[in-house]
Amino acid sequence: RFITFEGGEGTGKSTQLRRLAARLRGLGIEVLETREPGGTQGAELIRHAVLSGRVSEYGAFAEALLMNVARDDHLRHVILPALEEGRWVLSDRFHDSTRAYQGASCTVDEGLLQAMEEIVLSDTRPDLTVVLDLDVETGLGRARKQTKAEAKFLRDRFEDADLDYHRRVREVFLARARAEPERCVVVAADGDADEVAELVWRAVASRLGL
Ligand code: C5P
Repeated sequence: RFITFEGGEGTGKSTQLRRLAARLRGLGIEVLETREPGGTQGAELIRHAVLSGRVSEYGAFAEALLMNVARDDHLRHVILPALEEGRWVLSDRFHDSTRAYQGASCTVDEGLLQAMEEIVLSDTRPDLTVVLDLDVETGLGRARKQTKAEAKFLRDRFEDADLDYHRRVREVFLARARAEPERCVVVAADGDADEVAELVWRAVASRLGL
């Protein structure tokens, strides 16, 4: 099974992914935890280039191309081999994030984003996508408190945080969930980590028959 976690800044994807992985392991399921952008050496280099701000002068189209190159590497070298071995793969972000973040820039044609997605994914889609949903002010507030390797660039990005941009990101995630209700489940992420973990668990257990 292939499960992805999606959502805006500070929605708690990483925490919830870890919690779900632990619970699945408790059932004896072999789980691979991974993330995007990243998940392979090459894709982590691309993550670093993008999140350090080094490629920002090239614009959102170049960013979208790079995200897709990273995804292609991640998919072929990590995700698909693990699924073939019968492991479950949990990814912190996947294709919806490219549609949301690069799409919300409003400078990249939607059709091009979709075409790149189809080329890279071919017929692979997550079995389930958990969209963690939170109002953007709360999410950005939480994200500012996190310390990540890319903290400086992300802080800059949040400090002149264009709220409208982040609202569009949220809207894309929700619109994609509405358009693909069989694949996606939206979980309210405004509770504490235990509450959200319980909601995620219930959604996953009922969707995947656990
Ligand atoms: O999931 P995480 O918060 O670690 O992602 C790091 C950052 O990468 C996000 O804050 C987001 O702004 C950015 N990102 C992006 N385009 C993507 C995926 C992530 O700009 N396609």
